[in-house]
Amino acid sequence: MSTSLSSWGNYPFAPQSGHPCHWRTDVGPLMQQVSEAHGTTLPFGNGRSYGDSCLAGSDHVLQLRPLNRFIEADWENGEICAEAGVTLGEILQLAIPRGWFLQVTPGTRHVTLGGAVANDVHGKNHHRSGTFAHSVMSFGLHRSMQPPMVCSSMENPQWFAATIGGLGLTGVITWVSIRLRRIQSSLIDTTQVRFDCLNDFFALSAELDAQHEYSVAWIDCLAKGSAQGRGVFTVGDHCETGPLAAALPYPLSVPIRSPVSLINPFSLKLFNRHYWQRQPVNRQSRVVAYSPFFYPLDRIEHWNRIYGRKGFQQFQCVLPTTVAEAALADLLKSIARSGTGSLLAVLKRCGDIPSVGWLSFPMPGTSLALDFPQNSTLTKKLLPRLDAIVREAGGRLYPAKDAHMSGSDFRQAYPAWEQLDAMRDPALISRFWQRVIR
Ligand SMILES: Cc1cc2nc3c(=O)[nH]c(=O)nc-3n(C[C@H](O)[C@H](O)[C@H](O)COP(=O)(O)OP(=O)(O)OC[C@H]3O[C@@H](n4cnc5c(N)ncnc54)[C@H](O)[C@@H]3O)c2cc1C
Repeated sequence: MSTSLSSWGNYPFAPQSGHPCHWRTDVGPLMQQVSEAHGTTLPFGNGRSYGDSCLAGSDHVLQLRPLNRFIEADWENGEICAEAGVTLGEILQLAIPRGWFLQVTPGTRHVTLGGAVANDVHGKNHHRSGTFAHSVMSFGLHRSMQPPMVCSSMENPQWFAATIGGLGLTGVITWVSIRLRRIQSSLIDTTQVRFDCLNDFFALSAELDAQHEYSVAWIDCLAKGSAQGRGVFTVGDHCETGPLAAALPYPLSVPIRSPVSLINPFSLKLFNRHYWQRQPVNRQSRVVAYSPFFYPLDRIEHWNRIYGRKGFQQFQCVLPTTVAEAALADLLKSIARSGTGSLLAVLKRCGDIPSVGWLSFPMPGTSLALDFPQNSTLTKKLLPRLDAIVREAGGRLYPAKDAHMSGSDFRQAYPAWEQLDAMRDPALISRFWQRVIR
């Protein structure tokens, strides 16, 4: 029986029929069955990608979340092997009480191992630890009509590199083996400080990134004139002492998708101004639980439903170091002028640890991420303007978040796309890939 699935942004609106896969041995036959019946298919993790990279060209996906078993754990050395549908949150539940944590985590724990590899996700410590792939020792890959293979930097290395950040196109990842990092406590020692302009953000980043494992900034994207670029800088490190307690699930949830977006220019302006004013003017340090530090958005399940039936788009770009400040100023000016702001505008410096995957998103520079309610002005006016600034700066957009980038922008920014396309499993294609390689 198939279930109906969607991407996190619910834009484009393209309900997916999910064909659940419960056993690793079922992957091959199911892939064959679904692709024969519908032309092609695509692996689907937990649908935390915002745009169309997790949507199948045929709208029939292989639902891999039911592959949710742990296979092996070595708690002496912090190494675990689990099926590809296990989420990062489920790993933390087991690992934290034993004094281990993920080496790299994105801003939600509801991401599967398969999805984390396929988008080579990054987190608040990219400047120190690079992308998720750096913690991956090996994984199982199943291509249609072929026996399963093991991929690592030593075994089938070309499939290892193509599949990391390979957008689910090279085959189905069935299990993943990762290395964890030692922690003494589940608490995070964090410091926050307000900044008044982009220049101050770069000064804080230059001073603090080297001293701390985690660093990220929120920015008031609606502030204009002398207030443009103001925000809040946050750094953090795992505490040296304290309990080792895995977080309990949050009870709050948005029960239904509202008919219209609850995010509008008025509520956005109010939120942005109020949030900035509440932040400490001078550096303020405190100890917090890991969950609100890494996963503030996970506090409310299904928060994406507040954007209504039309959904929303995330715009995430990375801009090369030398031009980042000027290009960010241009992006913020265009956004503030449009009045179409974002509740969540996140700035983060990406470091220079090279990514393992051919199509991994991060590059040395600064990344900006914003959520915009979907409407025709966004698609026709604002996004093309922002894309032009990113293109001019030599930056690129993140496929995991994207639902609009042009094919020429994608191919220019990710020259290895042809290599990946040559290694694509003919049974697998996404709506994203159909859109950008045309
Ligand atoms: C609130 C929030 C915060 C986020 N923060 C960050 C962040 O800080 N950094 C970051 O990098 N990303 C971030 N993301 C994006 C998210 O981490 C990625 O989109 C992630 O890949 C989603 O994983 P998933 O398991 O939901 O996979 P899906 O979204 O279902 O699929 C993602 C891709 O993986 C492929 N795939 C899934 N499972 C498999 C498999 N078993 N085998 C082969 N391919 C597979 C799919 O085909 C698709 O191409 C965030 C998302 C949300 C909603």
